[in-house]
Amino acid sequence: MGEYKEDFGRAGRLAAGFAQTLFEQLEVLPALPRLEPGQALGALETGLPEEGLPLEDILAGFREHILPGMTVWNHPGFMAYFNSTASPASLLSEILITATNANCMNWLSCPAGAELEEIATGWLRQLLGLPGVFWGIIFEGGSLSSFHGMAAAREKVLGPAFREQGWQPGQPPLRAYATAHAHSSIAKALMALGVGRQNIIDIAVDEAFRMQPEALGKQLRKDVEAGFRPLCVIATLGTTSCTAMDPVADIADICQEAGTWLHIDAAHAGPAAILESCRPLFRGWEKADSITVNPHKWMFLSLDTSVLFLRERRYLRGAFSLTPDYLKTAYDEQVTNYYDYGLTLGRRFKALKLWANIRYFGRQGYARIIGRHLELAAALRSRMEKTPGFELPAPTPLSTICFRYLPPGRQLSAQAADALNEKLLEAINRAGKVFLSPTRLNGRFTIRLVIAGLWAEEKQVEEAWETIVQCAGRLDA
Ligand SMILES: *Cc1c(COP(=O)(O)O)cnc(C)c1O
Repeated sequence: MGEYKEDFGRAGRLAAGFAQTLFEQLEVLPALPRLEPGQALGALETGLPEEGLPLEDILAGFREHILPGMTVWNHPGFMAYFNSTASPASLLSEILITATNANCMNWLSCPAGAELEEIATGWLRQLLGLPGVFWGIIFEGGSLSSFHGMAAAREKVLGPAFREQGWQPGQPPLRAYATAHAHSSIAKALMALGVGRQNIIDIAVDEAFRMQPEALGKQLRKDVEAGFRPLCVIATLGTTSCTAMDPVADIADICQEAGTWLHIDAAHAGPAAILESCRPLFRGWEKADSITVNPHKWMFLSLDTSVLFLRERRYLRGAFSLTPDYLKTAYDEQVTNYYDYGLTLGRRFKALKLWANIRYFGRQGYARIIGRHLELAAALRSRMEKTPGFELPAPTPLSTICFRYLPPGRQLSAQAADALNEKLLEAINRAGKVFLSPTRLNGRFTIRLVIAGLWAEEKQVEEAWETIVQCAGRLDA
């Protein structure tokens, strides 16, 4: 006992020391390690230990053999996917969460956990400008938030009989509606919820990759006439490829008229709604039935924290509430037991991270950082527009820039242009200053650059641009 008690303090000091020097090490580490499969761990001792080792040895092994094989998402040059940078407040709360190790399954299992989840998700709701009718619950990620949002939709459409009997013969098939740019987690959730991929109907997009509301309305009417049962419409605010913002005000009107559940996936882009100047892009999202926002992306929480907002939480409870005798408490009538609203029983105290980060940054802090990201992206985009050879196949409503490079004066086939841009991306990432990732727009290979990391300043963007221009220049030669 005494030994572990002492080690607790040592572990905290060692971890704090590491975190403090991490960024000095990052200066010399590449943004993306250049490794082949199987090489990531170097000479790491992989024999199973018989006797335990001191914490110092464990830290040394990590520094020496594991860290060099890691893609460090906290790296300042990380501009791939959608960022998840962990703030100092996240580090502090992670240590507090582990030191106390509460399982926030119901109110009694951690009273402050249940009550703080109400407060912290309420703060997030206010930051985003959503009305008080929305109630929030924390899940591990956007994928699970959206899964639970659509499970609530299924409960509303099929009613309580479904949870007891499952699918019944003769039941009309359910259908869901999204664009081809919806995140893959939407299709996965609908597969798991028994809807089936062929019942996810692609709605056409406009030239900016946004859902066309008229096409949605037409499809809904056609499907109802044909005997299908619409389960939900999934609109995305900030698609993964290019942060397209579906016109949710018009989509919400169509859903309201048809009586169809509207789920909005704003996992990455949601926090931009903290800025008044971005609110027009979100107009109408307050009419949704459920909304996914990931504070572990653009609000600098460490993984893994996503919030699902629900207009009528009773449907989620209806879908998942099941209390065995050993979990009943005297308070069940008076409190929110969060495990009633989802698949898992055990729940980490993630509300603490949300609470700590909102206290750390404040509304103004978030507005300043996200505002800076938008400015940096606008400036970089305008440089790209002015540079011969750069093609920008999508608008930049926020801070994700999609680009392709086509050497001026050379006629390339579509395939050759794709191959050239694949080579360009590889060269950029190999240079080590910046890590970018690809997508496809209109079927064409496209490079994405995301400015959404806590450490993204002018210097990193400048370095990224220099790298891109140099690598493109070398391809020209
Ligand atoms: C990141 C993201 C997701 C997936 O979230 P996870 O937390 O990785 O599960 C879903 N949808 C969108 C739009 C995203 O940006």
